[in-house]
Amino acid sequence: MDRRLHSLSPKPEFAVRSCLVFDREQLAVPNVKSSRGIGIGFACRDAQSSKNRPKPKSVDVERDLIGVGAGPANLSLASLLTTARERGLTSISATFFECEATVFWHSLQMFPGSLMQTEFYRDLVTPIDPTSKFSFLNYLKAQARLDQFFCSSTIYPTRREFEDYFRWVAGQIGEVIFGVDVNSVDYDVKKNLFVVDAETHGRCVTKHIVFGSGARPKSGVEVSQPDRIVDVSRLLAFTFPKTLNRILVVGGGQSAAECLSYLLDRFSERPVRIDWVTGDTSFRALDTSNFSRETFSTAYAQMFSSLNSETREKINQDDKAAVNGMTPLYAQALYQRLYRLLHFPPPDKAYPVVHVQANTEVVETREEPAGVSVTVHIVSTAETEVVVYDCVILCTGLDDESILESSIIGPELRRRLHKNQDRDGYAVSWDGPPDRMIFVQSQNKATHGLGDTSFVTAAGRNAAILNSISGREIYKIDESDLLVALK
Ligand SMILES: Cc1cc2nc3c(=O)[nH]c(=O)nc-3n(C[C@H](O)[C@H](O)[C@H](O)COP(=O)(O)OP(=O)(O)OC[C@H]3O[C@@H](n4cnc5c(N)ncnc54)[C@H](O)[C@@H]3O)c2cc1C
Repeated sequence: MDRRLHSLSPKPEFAVRSCLVFDREQLAVPNVKSSRGIGIGFACRDAQSSKNRPKPKSVDVERDLIGVGAGPANLSLASLLTTARERGLTSISATFFECEATVFWHSLQMFPGSLMQTEFYRDLVTPIDPTSKFSFLNYLKAQARLDQFFCSSTIYPTRREFEDYFRWVAGQIGEVIFGVDVNSVDYDVKKNLFVVDAETHGRCVTKHIVFGSGARPKSGVEVSQPDRIVDVSRLLAFTFPKTLNRILVVGGGQSAAECLSYLLDRFSERPVRIDWVTGDTSFRALDTSNFSRETFSTAYAQMFSSLNSETREKINQDDKAAVNGMTPLYAQALYQRLYRLLHFPPPDKAYPVVHVQANTEVVETREEPAGVSVTVHIVSTAETEVVVYDCVILCTGLDDESILESSIIGPELRRRLHKNQDRDGYAVSWDGPPDRMIFVQSQNKATHGLGDTSFVTAAGRNAAILNSISGREIYKIDESDLLVALK
């Protein structure tokens, strides 16, 4: 390890308050489980208050479709469905339950000025229906700032503005119900319907189910909330320790880069030492080149799904740069900022000192009275070191765990789900009647490509879902709208 990082020996005499052990392969997978028991999706901020609300009598309200969660993916489905119904193309009835009180889109890591990583025109509907009233451009028009947005000459608005756009969409769709936590989903053989325990809303039954409940952070730290270790997804709600001489930021992607910038702003006049490490061989930029952008197109997902599983796996391994890494402009600005800080620091005041290091895996973090004792493995030298930090921020991404493996799934449905990850279109394989379908948003990477975890692919996926449920073409999917053939 770089000698500027002082190596400290472990102090076993300290009482261990919390200890996170990391999987070297994945960089950081601590042994903390979600307190929700569901093991996926963030714990809802209003969960406690909704638990106190009176529970209505169980009524079997039947729907054609129930959506679990109203993040961007299910909001896209709700938008496309609303428009299709208004145009008389379908009569599918639906309800979407969201446990939060409103749309929260990674809100606790919404650092001032954070920008979208995807273009504004890849919104909830436009890739499938550019005439939809739920487009980002129509949102701007409704806010009376369309021309100003044009004059701003950007295709990457702030994330804050996109969250506001999501809220504007949700506010127009009455069947999106907030403040309702879905506790379980099972299949009732006699009724031939899925049964959804929608907490305060009672019990509902539905022909089809669409899970859009997101992914929780790999670190799992969001629920255990130790005093000095925090996942970046909750950083804006975190109280930094009073004594703050040394901070560790773990991870080499966009979230880590934004986190570092935030720390530099927040502690701009403090002599704090910040170590930024990644287990990767370098701090990589996202591949935003034109050919790679096809990963996010509807036709790409369709063609990808027609490949055999070995080929799909290889493509997903090889093409990671299309979805992981810092946006090039952000990486450039951050590099230049660090350069200035190192070589031309402010002359008359204290300032943060940043050390950036690749090839460094965090193996274990242990909270002790003196700070967080962090064991790191330096891949390039095969050395292991222990360093004590006042605070550790984990920017290690979102978990790949499938909602279908979580405890939200009831016993009958669990028994009937096929073990493989195959999809028929986007429908999950299960041992049930073909006119009862299960879909999962944003978790079809293995079958539909890396773009699936980003919301920009949601419109294409939801068009396919609506077409499958209705058994006919409600939305046209242009399967040849692709320059690069995959086979
Ligand atoms: C910082 C950050 C920036 C990103 N930027 C982009 C970007 O610019 N472009 C892009 O395409 N992608 C981006 N992504 C990827 C991101 O995964 C998607 O943007 C998007 O959030 C996926 O949408 P989703 O609806 O599947 O999941 P989520 O956004 O996670 O929404 C899931 C929702 O389900 C709710 N929920 C969970 N469990 C339950 C339950 N049991 N009952 C009721 N409700 C429940 C949750 O409260 C949540 O609101 C970004 C990711 C991060 C972390």
